[in-house]
Amino acid sequence: MLVDGHGRKVDYLRVSVTERCNFRCQYCMPEKPFSWVPKENLLSYEDLFKFIKVGIDEGIRKVRITGGEPLLREGLDKFINMIYKYDNTLDLALTTNAFLLPRAAQKLKDAGLRRINVSLDSLKEDVAAKIAQKNVLKTVLKGIDKANEVGLKIKVNCVPMKGINDDELVDILEYCRERGYEVRFIEFMENVHAKDGAKGLNSEEIQKIIREKYNFVKKERTGSSPSQDYVLDDGYVFGIIEPHKDDFCATCNRIRLTASGVLIPCLFFEESQSIKEAIQANDIDKAAAILKDVLANKPEKNKWNAEDGNETSTRAFYETGG
Ligand code: SAM
Ligand code: SF4
Repeated sequence: MLVDGHGRKVDYLRVSVTERCNFRCQYCMPEKPFSWVPKENLLSYEDLFKFIKVGIDEGIRKVRITGGEPLLREGLDKFINMIYKYDNTLDLALTTNAFLLPRAAQKLKDAGLRRINVSLDSLKEDVAAKIAQKNVLKTVLKGIDKANEVGLKIKVNCVPMKGINDDELVDILEYCRERGYEVRFIEFMENVHAKDGAKGLNSEEIQKIIREKYNFVKKERTGSSPSQDYVLDDGYVFGIIEPHKDDFCATCNRIRLTASGVLIPCLFFEESQSIKEAIQANDIDKAAAILKDVLANKPEKNKWNAEDGNETSTRAFYETGG
């Protein structure tokens, strides 16, 4: 079992397979052209898998593949199948913007994937295009339909932004409720890569908008999900991810690996260590020791809930995988 320096059990590994992306979401990526990590600096699937095995052997029970946009990396289904074959009892999931799902969903399902989280910030073509800085909505909706059709369980992530999609939160909730998908509204986490002036809605503001149409109650938190759940009168559950709240980190059970082999203990914390050399040298004991050391130094809390409320992370979400 993996336990961090604050006594929290860590059993969830998020693995980014690429920082590249076919979208430029305002809250995530800079508008200006920037340079990607060269492909040769990325860990191969075989090396990422070697580390995932270390994690599973030490107590990881949930693996989420993320990015950048993970479906941009060739052969993702084969990578997923490697993990599935090693441990088919693992909770194996993927986070994607859904743009490439129309042709990838079936292969992913066949490879052993059970569920996906998809980003859906707007149901209006022009607003979705403004957020992603690309005309994406029709293909994204097709991708979600396809994933549903092949039997992948779906959760929807939406980042509510002031003056952009804050008039659509009920529509997005209803879109998900009608289809049996859970929706989670994620508070915008301030970071230097987001568009200048980008402003998110906090949990209270999100709740106020939904309460204009629906009555709901707060669900007691259980387990280590980052989402605070709320239940509508008809039983439908939606979530809000509230990283600015003081108790958000209390049950944190996760650790992140980037595509270039950097192990990150917290989204908003500068410390990290690379497992690349150890893994490439097949030094499994060293990789396991680095994992334990990173966990021993996992901070108690992120910095978005600092008292002045003005903290801005320098880490890019497209690099850490969110
Ligand atoms: N490209 C995939 C996607 O968009 O779903 C996976 C990677 S993306 C970095 C993972 C998640 O991070 C997405 O749900 C996205 O909405 C979220 N995200 C990115 N930047 C964020 C920010 N500044 N604040 C809150 N959530 C953010
Ligand atoms: Fe790409 Fe996902 Fe970031 Fe949007 S949130 S730019 S889809 S990595």
